[in-house]
Amino acid sequence: MNERQYRNAISRCVRCGACKSLCPTYFASANETMSARGRVAMLGGVEEKHLSPGKGVADGIFSCMLCEACKESCPVGINIPEVIYHSRINLKKSFSKGNMLRRAVQFSIPRMDTAFTVLRGFQKLFYTPFYRTGKLRHIPAITSVPFKNSFQVYKNKKRAGRIAIFAGCSVNYLYPRIGEALLNILLTKQYEVVILKGEVCCGAPIRALGLEDEALKLAKKNIELFKNMRTEAILSLCPTCTMVIKQQYPALTGKSIPNIMDINEFFFKYEIAKGLEMTKRVFTYHDPCHLSYGLGITDEPRKVLADIKGIEFVEMEGAKECCGFGGFFSACFKDMSLIIGRKKIEHIKNTSADTVVTSCPGCMMQLEDLKKQAGTNVNVMHLAEVVDEAMHG
Ligand code: SF4
Ligand code: SF4
Repeated sequence: MNERQYRNAISRCVRCGACKSLCPTYFASANETMSARGRVAMLGGVEEKHLSPGKGVADGIFSCMLCEACKESCPVGINIPEVIYHSRINLKKSFSKGNMLRRAVQFSIPRMDTAFTVLRGFQKLFYTPFYRTGKLRHIPAITSVPFKNSFQVYKNKKRAGRIAIFAGCSVNYLYPRIGEALLNILLTKQYEVVILKGEVCCGAPIRALGLEDEALKLAKKNIELFKNMRTEAILSLCPTCTMVIKQQYPALTGKSIPNIMDINEFFFKYEIAKGLEMTKRVFTYHDPCHLSYGLGITDEPRKVLADIKGIEFVEMEGAKECCGFGGFFSACFKDMSLIIGRKKIEHIKNTSADTVVTSCPGCMMQLEDLKKQAGTNVNVMHLAEVVDEAMHG
């Protein structure tokens, strides 16, 4: 979105409020400035010079989780998340809560391995006391061996096809076990698997902080890295990465990674879970916002779970409602994140399921934190882990 498109979008708002109906931050705060409509109205006020682009406006704009729930709701066709992204480019310095984080991110982008090694040291020394006093949110143990540690091609004699994996930072550094699960599944299904070293952050958290130029550079690097891959699909385990690559890369750069695919779509299309079986368990499913609202994928994970014998599936109330993670939102707007999340964990508890499945490492982080805080022992699993367990025990 350029400056002209941005101004045009804001000027079309008729203040109808349709976009508020699904806005999680509005429900959590009961505050118009933290609603979809309020945000567009505030940005209109800034454009018309009725409002100064200071801290109040910046807090409202940066409290948006960019969940995409409002994207299709506007009767005059305003793409609210894109309006929010664009506004953050100029408002970022007024968002004082995010200043340190922005600097840390700017430092880390060119040296992610080093940044995560430093964070790992910090986590070992200070995480437990900080978490106990409520100053930190839950972060899984940062691995000393990232999933994409080296370039590797896993050859398979009976080649079913060739697949590459786009791991994303959270799988690479926080949940390498999910990447391993996908690798096991693909190798068992006779695929040749390529893991490329050199993949960089998809850019989602960077762009969310208003660092548009930096996000653009990352997009170009990933496009360049994957452009000559001859594969049936490049599979992603994180719906945020998939959505950004599919929808934002073309808008930002004019190019994309053409055969990027979310694993739900792949598992469903190629019937990966058909005929699998596991010992009797009760499962429920949480829809990640960027998978359901962003990519429109909701039936596929349920159908994949239905393919596995032994799983009793219980639909939770509000499965499509946000869990309250939202990347840096969960740290900068912790109270709101927990209000949204507590509702989610109550819905999960009400199903009496022993396992909540989802398809997003970010949602897993939030659900693991919520379950600790609620004192419930429900398992949290990624869909790839469920299929791997059903396949390999
Ligand atoms: S993207 Fe989500 S949090 Fe942001 S305004 Fe829209 S519905 Fe609200
Ligand atoms: S739905 Fe569209 S027109 Fe209505 S308040 Fe929201 S942004 Fe404005």
